[in-house]
Amino acid sequence: MANALFVSAISRRLEGKVAMITGGASGIGQCTAKLFSKHGAKVVIADIQDEMGHSVINSIGPTNSTYIHCDVTNEDHVKNAVDKTVSTYGKLDIMFTNAGICDPPRPRLIDNEKNDFERVLSINVTGAFLGMKHAARVMVPARSGSMISTASIASGIGGSSPHAYTASKHAVVGLVKNLAVELGQFGIRVNCLSPHLLPTPLAAKAFGTDDEGIEQLSNSMAILKGTTLKAHDVANAALFLASDEGGYVSGQNLFIDGGFGIVNSALKYPETRA
Ligand code: NAD
Repeated sequence: MANALFVSAISRRLEGKVAMITGGASGIGQCTAKLFSKHGAKVVIADIQDEMGHSVINSIGPTNSTYIHCDVTNEDHVKNAVDKTVSTYGKLDIMFTNAGICDPPRPRLIDNEKNDFERVLSINVTGAFLGMKHAARVMVPARSGSMISTASIASGIGGSSPHAYTASKHAVVGLVKNLAVELGQFGIRVNCLSPHLLPTPLAAKAFGTDDEGIEQLSNSMAILKGTTLKAHDVANAALFLASDEGGYVSGQNLFIDGGFGIVNSALKYPETRA
């Protein structure tokens, strides 16, 4: 009997928790919303793709999840989304600032447009900042919480992504580290996730291909063979950081990249190459 209880507690690792996920209508955010709900969390999806957001809520179940239209660059929207989360479910335990975009692939800096650069920074960095700021507003008095942000493999290396995207993801890590230091005194943990390339609409648009093309590209670059990175791998890492199992992990950038980010391909010994 004790064993059965133990297994049940493990199988619903977010029982009683409330999570808000920006960019939860699609890709990594959608997959995470479904996984968090399966583990017992009430989930609020904050996104600008209303139709997709509502359809995710319908598949999760409207009693356990809510969709809120929220442009993460608009502070009133973010404040309203956090307030509505608290008024609907009584609290906010997990803030997953995941919404993001990528700039057009223009390898030469001189071809990059200021507007594109600012738009990427605005969604990827200011959006994360606003989500964390308003989450802190309710988590600090509660003296607990877990904030998670989606960074990228581009947060740790140069040359893997366009300029604005790479700059934005490095900035997310800086924000996460600073906030982990500030908010630790209130029992709040702050971390980010850095996945390698995986099939989502963002990736398909950035590389001008479909999901299959993204998987082929990701596999061709991968260090870890015999498996393909999918959204559920990132969602599982988010689950760890959100749950009590990640209870002493803060200030970290968790790479979900099969070792891609630690390798300097130019310097690898030939005998270690596949
Ligand atoms: P996606 O396009 O499927 O999801 C991104 C979501 O963000 C969409 O639902 C979109 O509507 C939402 N969004 C965009 N702008 C918004 C705004 N202003 N306000 C609110 N929501 C907004 O792509 P994804 O790959 O799941 O992206 C999720 C995160 O993962 C992003 O931060 C991205 O940079 C990061 N990431 C993706 C990959 C990859 O290969 N797909 C790799 C590393 C990191």
